[in-house]
Amino acid sequence: MLAEIKGLNEECGVFGVWGHEKAAELTYYGLHSLQHRGQEGAGIAVSDQETVNIHKDTGLVAEVFQNDQLKDLKGTAAIGHVRYATAGGGGYENVQPLHFRSQTGSMALAHNGNLVNATALKHQLENQGSIFQTTSDTEVLAHLIKRSGFSTLKDQLKNALSMVKGAYAFLLLTEDSLMVALDPHGLRPLSIGLLGDAYVIASETCALDIVGAKHERDVQPGELLVINNDGITSERFAYNANRAMCSMEYIYFSRPDSNIDGINVHSARKSMGKQLASEAPIEADVVTGVPDSSISAAIGYAEQSQIPYELGLIKNRYVGRTFIQPSQELREQGVKMKLSAVRKIVEGKRVVMVDDSIVRGTTSRRIVNMLREAGATEVHVRISAPPIKNPCFYGIDTSTTEELMASKHSIEEMREIIGADSLYFISEEGLVNAIGRPFENGGQCMACFTGKYPTEIYPDTAHPHEKVTC
Ligand code: SF4
Repeated sequence: MLAEIKGLNEECGVFGVWGHEKAAELTYYGLHSLQHRGQEGAGIAVSDQETVNIHKDTGLVAEVFQNDQLKDLKGTAAIGHVRYATAGGGGYENVQPLHFRSQTGSMALAHNGNLVNATALKHQLENQGSIFQTTSDTEVLAHLIKRSGFSTLKDQLKNALSMVKGAYAFLLLTEDSLMVALDPHGLRPLSIGLLGDAYVIASETCALDIVGAKHERDVQPGELLVINNDGITSERFAYNANRAMCSMEYIYFSRPDSNIDGINVHSARKSMGKQLASEAPIEADVVTGVPDSSISAAIGYAEQSQIPYELGLIKNRYVGRTFIQPSQELREQGVKMKLSAVRKIVEGKRVVMVDDSIVRGTTSRRIVNMLREAGATEVHVRISAPPIKNPCFYGIDTSTTEELMASKHSIEEMREIIGADSLYFISEEGLVNAIGRPFENGGQCMACFTGKYPTEIYPDTAHPHEKVTC
């Protein structure tokens, strides 16, 4: 779906390279392919073994690096970051990688996820004299590292990681090493690949593909990788049997050409569509998907139901970010600017419209209306996620509970509000089976549907709308 107008946004992607002469260029291309994970800021930090240099700014990757800045980023190791800014969290200082200098050297830090105990840790650190430069929760890790008292950076990092809770895929670059850590539940995807002798790390495998790196494996929950001129070492800083990969990565956020834990995202979405068709069949003439992320599920629904798949909705790809506006009125206008119904396809037809989620309901209502205005005689809405009733504390900017339509309305009420002839959400069990992760109970986070969070939620856990995450 159209993240910007829907109120459901990923918050960041990370990319790293060790041991390649064109580290900055590779990172630039990698970040390009992760642009869907965040459009508000981008940055690259590079190490030439003596210093760490950085360029970052607000804007898209192509905007931030449009004036030859890459030429100044010389070195064989790099980390990069794209970010989505939550309300109040924009601004240059929060764009990553964050860069810290001290007497012992430099350190750049890039983070995808959200630390649920960041506020409490920040208060503690401030009481001990730390001064924060940003409002980002990521900076907490840097202060914990510097205050740990251990002699090696690896031990300092391990100690800091033992104190932070929540979702994180961290990349840390110094003059002489690249460190990679994934949270003990594995809430965010992170993969490692090889490009010749160079190591490449990326939030999604599509970014490995774009630079020609061969996927080696996914980083494991609680794993710490240290890459330097001696090679790569791996160790576990935490063990946790409770794997909890974010379900929404499969449903909505990740690119369809990415694989997470060996499962292709397009194939998982297609299975969700098939599952939906089995759970909620309906007599209809055409199946259509809301572009882009719902098309795979719509194809699956069509295949299973034997109803033809058609392009009943098309996306206007050339609408600039100026149309991404936070007010309700402008969001509604945004739907019109970004989507059109294809009259010739839907006129006089009973349409199954497959979408990946309903957040506030406004967008669904607009699309159903758009299909009716184009002549659809019936519109049956099928959603490839269960109802989203709870906020996410792990780096996805959903909405506050009050804004989530499913938190305060029954499915029948939702159907009526969006104006559909029928409405059905995939079952929780059906979703787990459709994704087919090879772990007990799927090993996936379902908290925004079930309210069962895989980590403790701390009393001070501010809603992502109220704090800066990444
Ligand atoms: S709460 Fe929902 S969006 Fe957040 S990590 Fe869990 S599944 Fe993903």
